[in-house]
Amino acid sequence: MIEEPAATTIDRVVELRRAIHRRPELGFEEHETQALVERELDALGIEHRRAAKTGVVGIVRGALAGRVAGLRADMDALPITERSGEPFSSEIPGKMHACGHDAHTAMLLGAARELQAMADRLHGTVVLLFQPAEEGPGGAEAMIAEGALADPRVEMAAMLHVDVRLAPGTIGITPGGVNASADELYVTVRGKGGHGAYPHTSIDAIPAASAIVIALQQIASRETDPLKSVVVTIGTISGGYRNNVIADEVQLSGTLRAHDPQLRDGLEAKVRRIVEHTAAAYGASAEVRIVRGYPPVVNDIELAENFSRYMRENTSIDVERPAPTMGAEDFAYFALAVPGVQVRLGIRSEAAGSVFPGHSPEFRIDEAALSVGVRTLVAFAVAAGAGALL
Ligand SMILES: [Zn+2]
Ligand SMILES: [Zn+2]
Repeated sequence: MIEEPAATTIDRVVELRRAIHRRPELGFEEHETQALVERELDALGIEHRRAAKTGVVGIVRGALAGRVAGLRADMDALPITERSGEPFSSEIPGKMHACGHDAHTAMLLGAARELQAMADRLHGTVVLLFQPAEEGPGGAEAMIAEGALADPRVEMAAMLHVDVRLAPGTIGITPGGVNASADELYVTVRGKGGHGAYPHTSIDAIPAASAIVIALQQIASRETDPLKSVVVTIGTISGGYRNNVIADEVQLSGTLRAHDPQLRDGLEAKVRRIVEHTAAAYGASAEVRIVRGYPPVVNDIELAENFSRYMRENTSIDVERPAPTMGAEDFAYFALAVPGVQVRLGIRSEAAGSVFPGHSPEFRIDEAALSVGVRTLVAFAVAAGAGALL
């Protein structure tokens, strides 16, 4: 059995979570959060080093032989002004922990405390991955490039993310694809400007851009397998000068998302064909630029199934299998490097006001979930170290 964390551990996790919540920092600016993590690890006697500028890698060494497990927590906040009404709200206007990364970091510190306390009977090694910049531009790739998974060599990794679809006491583990890739799309449509009264003397970029926006919707409805998820969203459109001037240029931007890596790779060609030929049909031209973002998160099937079973057999925590989402997560890079599993942590509670989705200025967390999260992280490290998962 994996016992519930000590009450002193949970008190400390709540304290740390609130301290981090008060002082939110954006990606690669997590200096205070990094210092807090380092102070806590020092106090626990856990060795650590820096990685990816504002990240921290900690190592808990079990006394017994075993495998190496990675536990990852993201540390960064969002450029949002908080309206949660929590007494420990952000002290920094325009910045807020609205995605739960404050809780993720605090829970990993809580798990570190529990694991260090049981080090004399722990199998294997636990690598604590405190990662910056999940919300962008992305810290996972930099952590890996700097050897976070190499010394010691991590053999499997897990992460928690709070989830408002599930209640405290429940976690979600879904084998296979759980988060989408997220690529940025930029389109420039070029025509020929002129007087609004003489359309025949110019090439209007506005109707060409409008037709492109509509035509791109056919990708999801006509061009891809209906059983494979894809999103093509145009988020911005801008162009033109005033009411009686024909626009010579329009800019569009959007996001392209998919779960299937092959479908994702095929999107660029589809977008280019549709955009360029639609523009040509209007006598205009168009330029497409796609910036590759995070890959899809694919949970290792065997690891996810085995960890689900382990949790059911060794804890009282409810394990559900929530539907995948089209959100994105840079844990994807860890899960490409080693078998990985993203665990969703239930936080929904009407009583605690924890009903708002991540990235909402009113976002709240039912702190009853923190104990469940710490226990889940400890369980993964214990089971992985003992060779019970892979
Ligand atoms: Zn987020
Ligand atoms: Zn997040």
